[in-house]
Parts: sequence; C-alpha cells; structure tokens
Amino acid sequence: MTCKAAFVFTPDMLKYHFSEDHPFNPVRLRLTLDLLEAYGLLEQNDMVLPRAANMEELLTFHEERYLQMLKKLSEPGASDEGAHLYGLGTEDNPVFPEMFKVGSLVVGATVTAAELVMEGKVEHAINLSGGLHHAHSAMASGFCILNDAVIAIKLLQKKYNCRVVYIDTDAHHGDGVQWAFYEDPNVLTISFHETGRFLFPGTGKVAEVGKGLGYGYAVNVPLEAFTEDESWIKNFREVVYPIVKAFEPDIIISQNGCDGHFYDPLTHLSASTLTYKEIPKIVHRLAHEVCDGKWVAIGGGGYDIWKVVPRAWTLLWGEMKGIKVPAKIPEAWIKKWSAQSPFVLPPSLNDDPSELPDIPRRPEIEEKNYLASQRVLNSVLPILTGNIG
Ligand SMILES: [Zn+2]
Ligand SMILES: [Zn+2]
Repeated sequence: MTCKAAFVFTPDMLKYHFSEDHPFNPVRLRLTLDLLEAYGLLEQNDMVLPRAANMEELLTFHEERYLQMLKKLSEPGASDEGAHLYGLGTEDNPVFPEMFKVGSLVVGATVTAAELVMEGKVEHAINLSGGLHHAHSAMASGFCILNDAVIAIKLLQKKYNCRVVYIDTDAHHGDGVQWAFYEDPNVLTISFHETGRFLFPGTGKVAEVGKGLGYGYAVNVPLEAFTEDESWIKNFREVVYPIVKAFEPDIIISQNGCDGHFYDPLTHLSASTLTYKEIPKIVHRLAHEVCDGKWVAIGGGGYDIWKVVPRAWTLLWGEMKGIKVPAKIPEAWIKKWSAQSPFVLPPSLNDDPSELPDIPRRPEIEEKNYLASQRVLNSVLPILTGNIG
C-alpha cells in the first residue's frame, strides 16, 4: 500500500549552516535529495514549498528577548555583544548570516508539514531540515537555534486541539522538546538516546517522567554506549507500541536523527542502517493504527554526512511513501559524489555485516537496555492506562 506524503523543502533551508568546518553540514540534505532522485523516489507532486514561521508562532515558545538577539545578530556587521548569554556565538552555535530568517524557515517547514497532515492534504509529511530538538526558549543549544518541533506541536494544540506523541530517536536526548511539555498531559514525549553519562546534553534518565499534570507523559529510554540494532529495535518496539496505544494521540511527530549509527563520529552507539529502516516502519504502522495515519517526520542529527545520512533518510522517505526501496544504491549517485567524498561510498542501503563493529560487552549492554525499558514500562504504563495501584 502506498501512502500520500509531502516532502517539504526549499533550497533556502540549506543556508542553515554555521561554518565551513562545523559538523552540522547541510550538504547532507543535498546528498539525500540527490539519492532520492537517483532512486526515482521524489516526484514533482510530492514537493511542497514551506512558508517561514511568523513572529506570533515563534513566540508560542521562544522568548522575545531571545528572538530580538537572533534578529540583531543576523544583521551584517552586527556585534555579538551579549550573544553568549543566549548560547549564541559559541563553538557549537556560531553566528551565521541570516540566522533568524533561515531558522524561521526551518521552523515554518515543520509547521507546514503539520498543517498539510491536519488538513488532510496528505497522510504523512517530512521536513528533513527540522528536528532541532535541543533549542530552549531563550537559549541556543547543540546546533539548534529555534525549536521547530516545539513550535509545530504548539500549533497543533492551539489550532487543531491535538493530543500529540513526539518520538525522538536521535542519539542525543530530545531535551528541548521534553522540557517544553514536561507538565503537559496532552503531549507525550518519548526519547530513545545514548545514555547521558558520557554524551551531551546529559539528561534523559528513566526517572524523568514528567511533572505535575504531566507526570507520566515523558518517556526516556537511555541506551548503553555500543548498543546494536537488535537491542535498540526490540526495546523500541516493546516500549513505543503499548505507550502510544495507551495515549491515543491525534498525530505522531517523529524526530529522525541518525547519529546513532556506528559510523557517526560524535556518538558511541552501534546501530546500522537496519535500525533506521525499522524505526520508521514501527512509527508508520502505529500512525495508521492509532491516528488515521497522521505522521510528521523531521530530521535531526547525523554527522557522517556521506555514508549514513543519505541512506538512513532514503529509508525513512521510502517508508513514508510505502515503497520498498531496492538496497542497491544507484551507480549514478555513487559516481556523482565519489570525487568529493573523503570515504568510499557504500554500495547498498544495508550495511555490510563485515563492517559492523565487534562488541565484546554485548550481553551486558542488552541486559541493561532491557532493564531500562522494563522500568519505563512499569512506571509510565499504569499512569497512561489509568491502572495505578
Ligand atoms: Zn502510510
Ligand atoms: Zn544528535
């Protein structure tokens, strides 16, 4: 069964670029788009141009003083005085040209995706430039300046009165989105990520389950470093299915950072592309089972821009369209990009088993992940199903 899905994109979003040697590199989107085209997976009528988010929308989450600072820094020749107070002008989040305008466009693209789905124009929609899950209300953080996920969820609440599930499988904890809705029982946030013991931002413990009315509506499964496909997928399935079903959302937003791949230079997880094939499959199935297919996917981290991001996000878009994508990467794409790539480009969407790292601690890692999942289910599920005590 194929599905009607929108690919929200404009080349102006490629200007979300901190600096030449910054790890968050928009070339990954160019590579992904090109791979989708080489596969024949992007049709003209899939493409939708985004609008930029307006001030009123940005203010549903971000503080005015922060937005004013971003605007000021966007002017040519502006001094960066005071920028550090907002996490800007730092090594992670340097000032770049038109950052306010480009950031608003990325937010607007996720908002556009949410509107397309809610108005029934498509079943699913994607904004791969989005997924800027670390941005706080008055603080840039972890390469994220404006939080597209939070603002889209605010719009879904305000305009459509939705109950929203947010599912984040970036290797880093989805902290900005979690804290934004930590006391809100109408937004359930789920984050699977590498444990914060050694990785930014350090949060995302099992015990973070929400607060006040939102108690039980934040879910965190910290995975051990070197977690592989089998453990990741199994725990994801076992936690996400019952929790999302119990919550009964109107729409699912998934953040699809692919920086948990074993090639990724910034994290320590050991997933292969199999994880990035299975996660969207589970989310997709759930969307049709629980919310009439309403599903918005956004991007996120992914720092092996050559060998991982294009493949992982091709699998994601193929899943959204309901198309089984052949594993063999089209020659034309490999040929086109080989000259620029510092690495040999993989010939298949599937990772070669001989490339997978050998993980001596596997049984211990699997056991710890399993125990974390069980703790999550035991603490949250009784609240969501109303079976406490
Ligand atoms: Zn579908
Ligand atoms: Zn990340």
